[in-house]
Amino acid sequence: MISNADLKRTVFDLVGSEHFPAEMVERVGGYTMSLPLFVEYLILDRDLGAEGWSNGNVYVGSDDDVDGYYAQLEAGRWPDHPVAYMTFSSLKDPSNTRLCRPGQTNMQVMTAAPRSYEFWGIEAGPASGGRYRLGDKYRERRAQVGESILEVAERALPGLRDSIVFSEAATPITHERFTWSTGGTSYGIECTPDQFLFNRPSPATPVRGLFLAGASTMGAHGIAGTMGGGVMAASAVAEANVQELVGHRLLG
Ligand SMILES: Cc1cc2nc3c(=O)[nH]c(=O)nc-3n(C[C@H](O)[C@H](O)[C@H](O)COP(=O)(O)OP(=O)(O)OC[C@H]3O[C@@H](n4cnc5c(N)ncnc54)[C@H](O)[C@@H]3O)c2cc1C
Repeated sequence: MISNADLKRTVFDLVGSEHFPAEMVERVGGYTMSLPLFVEYLILDRDLGAEGWSNGNVYVGSDDDVDGYYAQLEAGRWPDHPVAYMTFSSLKDPSNTRLCRPGQTNMQVMTAAPRSYEFWGIEAGPASGGRYRLGDKYRERRAQVGESILEVAERALPGLRDSIVFSEAATPITHERFTWSTGGTSYGIECTPDQFLFNRPSPATPVRGLFLAGASTMGAHGIAGTMGGGVMAASAVAEANVQELVGHRLLG
């Protein structure tokens, strides 16, 4: 059994902490999760490619106090100087006709966000059965955060808000609903020095037949990290270096 689900949920809910050594239960319980993301998915009624925009990502911020920024988010507060990260799906994948109509642009504006339920105006998360989507406080907060990052993005892309013809927001609570990740993050446990590389769980576990993959494991987060972690998990299952075997096959 290979679990690619959230590490804490795997240990505490799916398998049960009584099946693991006390030391591992304590370690997993003590891991700090990465901050989650808030995303505005947009379609603009303008063609940014025709306006000369490249398919690169754009990061907009106005303050270099990165530690202060993270501390505010960790404390469950909206930062004094929010940051917007813009990415343009239809410029990256221009032949994909399903992203938007000709003359339009499909883009996302995202940012790190507080994870606390209190910030999002809810008492319990969707993974434990909490309802959130229709709550007034939740909707108000979602609108505030969305407006705040669009305002920041507008500094790099004037006229952004006036050209939006479709928008849908995803909060950390949305992410928890669809993936059941702890704290609504897709980045697993935080990549800090005391939680990095050999300080992260390896694919083999003390439970016979149970292996781990995903962002919280040794390969770490992101697409490349989790793919690498998947190869490590396959190697642990096969008791062979799968990467080397695939390499030999590719090279003939
Ligand atoms: C908006 C956004 C943009 C991003 N952009 C980038 C980027 O540009 N580059 C990059 O490298 N990374 C990016 N990331 C991060 C990257 O997507 C994640 O780090 C990576 O997908 C994590 O992989 P994972 O396999 O650990 O988790 P996931 O991709 O979340 O996969 C876990 C899967 O397990 C399923 N699951 C959970 N519980 C159960 C259960 N009990 N039973 C069955 N299935 C279950 C979930 O539904 C989910 O499908 C981005 C993330 C987000 C949210």
